Amino acid sequence: MKASTPGTERENAYSSRETWPPYTYREYPDIAPETYKSFMEFLSTENTSNRVMELQPWISFCDSKCTFCFYPTTPYSRTLLEIYLKALKKELDMYAKTKYVQTSEFDEIVLGGGTPSLLSKDQMIDIIKYCEKNFNTTEEYMIKVSGSSRSFNEKKLVAAAEYGVYQVDIGAQTFDNKLRKMLNLPDSAEHMEQEIKIARKLGFCVCIDIMYNIPGQTLESWIDTVKKTIELDVEVDCYSLKVQPGTVLYNQLKAGQVPPQPDPELEKKMYVTAYELFTQAGYRPVGHDRFSRVEWHFKENCLNGWPWAGILTTGSGCIMGYLQRFSYSNIELAKDYIAAVNEGRFPIAKLSKSTDEDMMRKVMTKLYIRLPVDKREFQERFGKLPEEVYPKQLKRLKEKGLIEIDEKEIKLTKLGDLWKANIAWEFTEHK
Ligand code: SF4
Repeated sequence: MKASTPGTERENAYSSRETWPPYTYREYPDIAPETYKSFMEFLSTENTSNRVMELQPWISFCDSKCTFCFYPTTPYSRTLLEIYLKALKKELDMYAKTKYVQTSEFDEIVLGGGTPSLLSKDQMIDIIKYCEKNFNTTEEYMIKVSGSSRSFNEKKLVAAAEYGVYQVDIGAQTFDNKLRKMLNLPDSAEHMEQEIKIARKLGFCVCIDIMYNIPGQTLESWIDTVKKTIELDVEVDCYSLKVQPGTVLYNQLKAGQVPPQPDPELEKKMYVTAYELFTQAGYRPVGHDRFSRVEWHFKENCLNGWPWAGILTTGSGCIMGYLQRFSYSNIELAKDYIAAVNEGRFPIAKLSKSTDEDMMRKVMTKLYIRLPVDKREFQERFGKLPEEVYPKQLKRLKEKGLIEIDEKEIKLTKLGDLWKANIAWEFTEHK
């Protein structure tokens, strides 16, 4: 393997790897009347950004709770889901009626969550049609549906394929049955493999989430999962598990009920090994954690438009929505969300409006999503070059071999790819 060897001085640029970058929903303040007012004013303006956006209706229901999950999900109930879908359409409609959205274009409709594959095939198609009818889409827009291998059955997959859904995202996590059991992932690796094969046979682009840094996970187990992913011919989002306080897994780790997580050296080695195996198999790194061979993944506007475009997320518990300077997340509990929408309110729980200083930092987080920072564009927007705003950080990162800077742009090196979340934090203080 020709990867730079873990453990060398350069690979120890930081004591451990960050996994979340700044500007996640955790950073947003609770909604305040003045920010809400400003957001409403913004929505009544035209979208003159010339950036295409992504539309994400969330189905934040799950039929079981993965022990590591910190997303605000609602236990699946057929009756509540039906009521929820009506509220979701109302929220979508509230946005669709605004001038900002009416003057925007979307190149992706993504059913996220949660587990949208819990929807019946008719519910799934109905919500997609609703989005298509009420939002302007680009000529070649993509439809994606995410879910679990246990709730995507062949009937739903066939209906989705016939309707024109392009991509199916599956939270696979691991092909190691022992780890699957510990994480409370109900179906077996064999069942999951079967469902993925059906989806591939139907012609879907399949993208799976896999995780390393799982308690008790060995390097061999991780390599097996990576190899299985390659063998199944799917695209992949490859995450390092960060165990969040409040999750079942966090409590189990604290009580010693599960083995410890791999140490930082092994965690790094897992990433470097996956990087090598995927790139040797023809995948390229793209976005925050993806390895892909699908050209569309490199063109997606939700990626390339950051931080000036937008991801319009809707539904209970949705996080990381943003429209230009505004970032928001919604009310978490489905029943509170439904109540808010039925009162005619945008069901936002947290909302922030970025200052110029925030936007500069956000531009620098393009490094986290493996995009170069265009120096000329930075100067045009802010009147200064990145080197003038962040001289110390950029010098330090360059000396560590994590970034390259030339006349036009700042970009990650291969070594920097390993530390991209730490690099993003260099431009923002931890709170
Ligand atoms: S399926 Fe996804 S959203 Fe649902 S509990 Fe598991 S990790 Fe959380």
